[in-house]
Amino acid sequence: MEINYRSLGLRVGLEIHQQLDTKSKLFCSCPAKLAPEDSRYHEVVRSLWLSKSELGELDPAAVYEIARGRKIVYRVPEGHACLVELDEEPPHDINREALLISLSIAKALNAKPVDEIYVMRKIVVDGSNTAGFQRTAIIALGGYVEDEEGVVGIQTIALEEDAARKVAEGLDYVVYNLDRLGIPLIEISTAPDIRTPEQALRVAYKIGLIMRLSGRVKRGIGTIRQDLNISIEKGERIEVKGVEKLELIPKVITYEVVRQLSLLSIRDELLKRGLKPSDVSESFVDVTEVMKSCGSKMVRTNIEKGLRVYALSLPGFKGILGKEVCPGRRFGTELSDYAKAWGGVGGIIHSDELPAYGISEQDLDAIYRHLSLSRDKDAFILVISDYEKAERAFKAIVERLRYAFVGVPRETRGANPDGTTRYLRPQPGAARMYPETDIRPIRVDSMLLKEVEGLVIPKPEDVYRTLIEEHGLSRDLASQLIRDPILHLYLDLVEELRGVTSPQIIATTIVVHMKSLKREGVDVDKVGYSELAKILSAVGRGELAKEAIPEAIRAVASGTSLEDFLKSFKAMSMEEIEKVVEDVITSNIEYIRAKGLDKSVSLVMGKVMSIVRGRADGALVSTIVKKKLQSLFAERE
Ligand SMILES: [Zn+2]
Repeated sequence: MEINYRSLGLRVGLEIHQQLDTKSKLFCSCPAKLAPEDSRYHEVVRSLWLSKSELGELDPAAVYEIARGRKIVYRVPEGHACLVELDEEPPHDINREALLISLSIAKALNAKPVDEIYVMRKIVVDGSNTAGFQRTAIIALGGYVEDEEGVVGIQTIALEEDAARKVAEGLDYVVYNLDRLGIPLIEISTAPDIRTPEQALRVAYKIGLIMRLSGRVKRGIGTIRQDLNISIEKGERIEVKGVEKLELIPKVITYEVVRQLSLLSIRDELLKRGLKPSDVSESFVDVTEVMKSCGSKMVRTNIEKGLRVYALSLPGFKGILGKEVCPGRRFGTELSDYAKAWGGVGGIIHSDELPAYGISEQDLDAIYRHLSLSRDKDAFILVISDYEKAERAFKAIVERLRYAFVGVPRETRGANPDGTTRYLRPQPGAARMYPETDIRPIRVDSMLLKEVEGLVIPKPEDVYRTLIEEHGLSRDLASQLIRDPILHLYLDLVEELRGVTSPQIIATTIVVHMKSLKREGVDVDKVGYSELAKILSAVGRGELAKEAIPEAIRAVASGTSLEDFLKSFKAMSMEEIEKVVEDVITSNIEYIRAKGLDKSVSLVMGKVMSIVRGRADGALVSTIVKKKLQSLFAERE
């Protein structure tokens, strides 16, 4: 489907969270890194309290969490969390290193530092913060990023503490590890100036690159998270949380636009059918007796376990629940999300997807008859659970269905790995920030700003130019590097191997070889910075042919030391290479005679190179192959 984003009035804002690479956490001296998997820890169990805001309103997000009534378990790993993370000791002064890094990033994003930094408490109700709030401080305002489709404003830049890390979860409990709680994060929020999915990707890349170029942010999975605010003119502003891969951003936006358009067309269809919100009744009935002998083993097993089957009638809704809202997700899936989240049930079964799951045509007829519904016009939803859960699930489903007459409900959604999204919770209310009284405000004085001046972040354009003009890289290689987090690895290696190994060899190794080996399934993550530096320096010193780099990486990844590899992998002598070339020619002599000189060169070259596997220089092999073939054809004439 071709979508005209501009005429739909698409507006997207990005919220990028990036962990800073500091020594310690934001408000205590615990290390700012995750605990090793085998760390010793003890556990603390807490439960959530509901309190009204100062305006006397209940926050919808808080009501949601309380309704779930889950037990919260905190894992406290030794040496990675202290009394501050447990909220049993007041926070210490804000980490100055984190302040300097975030102010220098703010400067690179053209933002203006605030005069005084106030730490605020942002209410968090899912238990991921022991205190029930996250500490956050706005450090700069009003920056911008330039983009070919127009300048995108940056509204705020904040320094905040990361939340605890969810490690396990069940219907009635959740376990968090406190190691991540308190790691400094920079949060960059753009204005909703982004107009197309591609622009969102470019802007996210650019902001990410500037942060990486600071050299002071953490790298790797989970160290950066992108949230998106997406709206279209006739729809609603939807928050999508937790997009971990940059490449997924355009897809998430496209699918969200499609979802909102689909929900609007469902609304139009309901109105066209003359239905009203009051036609959706809250009363549901027990149909266990009808389903007891149905064709579905899953249903029968659940009934034998003591669960009941409840049905909600939806007169006039035939076909609505089966409507696709984005690839692989139907309107029924949206309702199912609500039932799971609010009722704690495993999901729903709706009539538009039946017959399925072993429920047959006859079973379907029996349910329709029992509910006195028409198979041509009406729909129903089944929930298999105990009464209490079914009641909560249907209440949520009915509310959601009634909203279908209005359009797109305001929700916080979570990104799925395929770019679709799922319902997470209602959007929190506005009254969520309170001053943190335990921390004194920090004046951004000239001394602090002078220190920030000392941390200069190069501009991406400057780095790109350096890669081409000074390092002699091709435009293709340079633009691949500049878009990739490995840029830092590259720059570090170039610095260390200056005068030894050429930047082109370094770039080709990490952009081309490392990636293709990874695709092959080689565990290249085992080849760390120092191993790579050793391999590349051996090439620079002439101990290893550059053609042997992939072989060397492969060996080191599988646990061989580079020294052992070099011993067993001596460069071949001229005589040895000639022997291999002669053997290849002999065993392919018929092909070579049939195809002629020119066409044979690449075949012989390819076979020889796969045998010598980098133990010989490509240019030398090529000379020998040509010479041998020429003399072969000369003999014949
Ligand atoms: Zn601590």
